[in-house]
Amino acid sequence: MKDIIIVGSGPAGHTAAIYSARAGLNTTLFEGWMAGGVAPGGQLTTTNEIENFPGFPEGMTGPELMVIIRKQSVKQGVEIFTETVESIDLSSRPFKIKTSSREMETAVLIVATGAIARRMGVPNEEKFWQKGISACAVCDGALPLFRNQPLVVIGGGDTAMEEAMHLSKFGSKIYVVHRRDELRASKAMQKRVLANDKIEILWNTVMLDVGGSDVLEYVLLKNIKTDKEFKQEVKGLFYAIGHTPNTAFLDGQLDLDDAGYILTNPGTTVTSIPGVYAAGDVQDKVYRQAITSAGTGCMASLEAAKYLEENPL
Ligand code: FAD
Ligand code: NDP
Repeated sequence: MKDIIIVGSGPAGHTAAIYSARAGLNTTLFEGWMAGGVAPGGQLTTTNEIENFPGFPEGMTGPELMVIIRKQSVKQGVEIFTETVESIDLSSRPFKIKTSSREMETAVLIVATGAIARRMGVPNEEKFWQKGISACAVCDGALPLFRNQPLVVIGGGDTAMEEAMHLSKFGSKIYVVHRRDELRASKAMQKRVLANDKIEILWNTVMLDVGGSDVLEYVLLKNIKTDKEFKQEVKGLFYAIGHTPNTAFLDGQLDLDDAGYILTNPGTTVTSIPGVYAAGDVQDKVYRQAITSAGTGCMASLEAAKYLEENPL
């Protein structure tokens, strides 16, 4: 039986693992194998330059950063399996973890399985992914590629409003493409966006495709009221159509919110089951950054270690 098992291999999972191993706990991490369509290392493996993670003044690529962080886990003695956890039995301690090739028991558990930014899957999307298309304006908006250029945000929720506001500091013009004639975002966010001269909302509009030569140059849009199709020249496209947290494998054993995020007690990583903690994007639909994920990974490890000390098996 393990002291602590961590499921997930992004900044949250590895930070939890590093802290746990350094605290002398027998620590195992399941990094997954293309779980949720993402490689071990998590969402940062899908991006290029990371310029906002402290400690790297010259920036570095997402995959490079995750290789270094994984190395740190290994150095601290974390046992890592490149396997996806298929099911978990949380009905009693020790908790039981199952992959396609092994079963293990653990005294405490940290879930750090992240979330996947939804994409639309238009025909040429893959060709321009990271060549103008992103799913994170806070992460990529300041890149030179987007400076003083027309940009487009897809979505009508709070994320889309925040992304549009953020991008308005860098782009020359921001189009928000929304499929309805009413925004889903909170009134306060709507007000700020509607008052921003640089932002224009294209109502009742859907995106059919993207195009360009080497990098993104336009999006093909359609007004669904008039059926009119038109090209909008843009250098950047930011998806803000929601995220899907990787919580299906929990099979309803932890309390989740309506969108499937794990519910934690405010200001902690404590879940609805004592001895189970949640860190990173799987429990955060507001900040969704590598550094906040790492921060909650640290919190989860400290909280789990304290629980184990007070509730040994
Ligand atoms: P994730 O990074 O999502 O990792 C979770 C991992 O767990 C994944 O590898 C997944 O496959 C694995 N997993 C899932 N289910 C299972 C299972 N059942 N068993 C085992 N493993 C499983 N943030 C920044 O701070 N700066 C940036 O510049 C930046 N750029 C970004 C660019 C893009 C394109 C995207 C999509 C995100 C970006 N982010 C950035 C956000 C950042 O990547 C996330 O906030 C962060 O990675 C979340 O970390 P996490 O540890 O919660 O989970
Ligand atoms: P939401 O699910 O709230 O909004 C997603 C938006 O994308 C909706 O407007 C939806 O349209 C649109 N959309 C979804 N799928 C498609 C598609 N295939 N094609 C076109 N448009 C699509 O997600 P958010 O990420 O915006 O927010 C998630 C949660 O996080 C919310 O509870 C939000 O309030 C919260 N949040 C809070 C923040 C804050 O408080 N500062 C910041 C960010 C998020 P439609 O409206 O027609 O369904």
